[in-house]
Amino acid sequence: MYFIIILCLIFLFNSPVVFAEVDEPFYLYKKTETITHVPWYYLAAIDQYESQLSLNNEEPHYSFFDPIEWYGLTNMNQDPNIITIQMHNGAGKDGTGNKEASLENHEDQLFTLATYLSTYSPTETELKNAIWRLYERPLSVKTILQNAKVYKQFNTTDLSEKAFPIPSNHHYSYQSTWGSGRGFGGRRIHEGCDIFAHYGTPVQSTAYGTVEIMGWNTYGGWRIGIRDLDNTYHYFAHLQHFDSELEVGSIVAPGDIIGSVGASGYGPPGTSGKFPPHLHYGLYRDDGYTVYSYDPYPKLKLWEQ
Ligand SMILES: [Zn+2]
Repeated sequence: MYFIIILCLIFLFNSPVVFAEVDEPFYLYKKTETITHVPWYYLAAIDQYESQLSLNNEEPHYSFFDPIEWYGLTNMNQDPNIITIQMHNGAGKDGTGNKEASLENHEDQLFTLATYLSTYSPTETELKNAIWRLYERPLSVKTILQNAKVYKQFNTTDLSEKAFPIPSNHHYSYQSTWGSGRGFGGRRIHEGCDIFAHYGTPVQSTAYGTVEIMGWNTYGGWRIGIRDLDNTYHYFAHLQHFDSELEVGSIVAPGDIIGSVGASGYGPPGTSGKFPPHLHYGLYRDDGYTVYSYDPYPKLKLWEQ
């Protein structure tokens, strides 16, 4: 009886609004976990890392899949038919059930990835080895392992929310100061945006992510680095203090207090007051090859609203 009522409800509310709320990637990862026994959050972390690398591609595909390995060396026309791929010892697997494995199909890629990972034990050490073989790049592997833990902790893939680094009920001011020459620290350009505020003003995390660095830096003073789910590193410098609960490896959400505004830096540990108190906020993006600084100002304006 309840089943019939639920069915009726599904038909009654079968509107795009209802479907828009369904966290689709999450269910695709969970479905794949059920079949392959690879924990869903590793699939989510790799898929997210790859989707961030492919942002500008028309037909994104996982960077670690080579068409020749996927379709098979002797599969000259790269026929996606699953039997042909098997005959030619290709790695491609059919994730959609249409008897084809296409390198342009997301579900086929995900299922092929999960099948590869399932040849390893589902332990952190073993999966780390498996992921290392895909990338052979320390930053890619570190990002993915950290983000897998973030997904696991929040048990959802709906983690795109961001926050302005200063809570809205505090006074602050800032202008676009990225790229300008800086008075201290040599010839490098100013890789961030300075947000001026009183000593002790709370500083909050801007994204879901992992605390990667905490401690003293000659120029930055007491600083924190947080890597988020978008292959981006958020750098907070010149702090007065860190939140006492925070340590390297801590998982944070947007709005979590991580410390307070200060004027530390520009010298040995403890140096403070050489410049007025402000938060230096920097953003660094990993494109899979290099890491580059970009202007946080447009993002800050967006998150401020
Ligand atoms: Zn600065």
